[in-house]
Amino acid sequence: MTSASRLQAGTLYIVATPIGNLADLTERAKQVLNSVDVIACEDTRHTQKLLQHLGVRKPLLSVHDHNERERTEQVIHHLRQGQTMALVSDAGTPLISDPGFPLVQALRAEGLTVSPVPGVSAIITALSAAGLPTDRFTFEGFLPHKAGGRREKLAALIQEPRTLVFYESKHRILETLQLMTEAFGSERKACVARELTKTFESFYSGTLPDIITQLQADEDQQKGEFVVMVTGNSDPAPASEVDMDKLFKRLLEELPPKKAAAIVADLTGDNKKALYQKALEIQGKA
Ligand code: SAM
Repeated sequence: MTSASRLQAGTLYIVATPIGNLADLTERAKQVLNSVDVIACEDTRHTQKLLQHLGVRKPLLSVHDHNERERTEQVIHHLRQGQTMALVSDAGTPLISDPGFPLVQALRAEGLTVSPVPGVSAIITALSAAGLPTDRFTFEGFLPHKAGGRREKLAALIQEPRTLVFYESKHRILETLQLMTEAFGSERKACVARELTKTFESFYSGTLPDIITQLQADEDQQKGEFVVMVTGNSDPAPASEVDMDKLFKRLLEELPPKKAAAIVADLTGDNKKALYQKALEIQGKA
């Protein structure tokens, strides 16, 4: 190992791993995984496969959403003893829609060293080849599972001028694209990236309805992992100029008055209670 990559005692290295193509693991990631004392990972069986491929044998410590707080104590103990550790997730960069945030937050609060070993993440990989504006974007991760929650989240993003980036699974991809068409309209340009860096890597571009048609044409196109990117609103109305009645009428088609009022309050900064009254009035008139 070069002196630049010599490990520092008492450090947790956040190591990015491939999102499909094993050749995307960086040289430094291999060196770090080969040199640390313990590797913390999301799923030990999954990480074991990667380590077998690298010919690396290390003690593994599972860290996932359900045990992260208790594991944090153990990691702090290991690091305080001068050990070196790596954190990996099942794919891509840890903490990006993956476990690790409470752990890293706690280590920083304790004054311990956390050092990134950068590599692949599906967001940046998808954006780099999508052909949509990348000068400003907002990463929204996964939308809520329930359709009502997804509608509510999308409604709050209607005015967003930056490119929107979402993660989605094969179970909800079509329904999500349909809900996005309802929220953002049928003219917005979008791009869906599927199975990035893998054998069946595909990009689908066009308006949201165009992309739905492409995916519906062949069920195989609905399989795998997806990144959904939608251009931002190129003509966002300043909140003060939004026609409140029109906005409420549209939101009330999808949401109960309380949720509609909460979204309008978020967008305008106006009083939630007053907006709730207005929502009830408008609903009464409909
Ligand atoms: N930490 C990862 C990263 O840095 O991208 C993301 C983990 S998140 C649990 C998994 C989601 O990322 C998938 O459901 C999908 O939306 C996206 N994703 C991961 N790998 C992908 C790939 N090869 N192609 C398309 N999307 C991918």
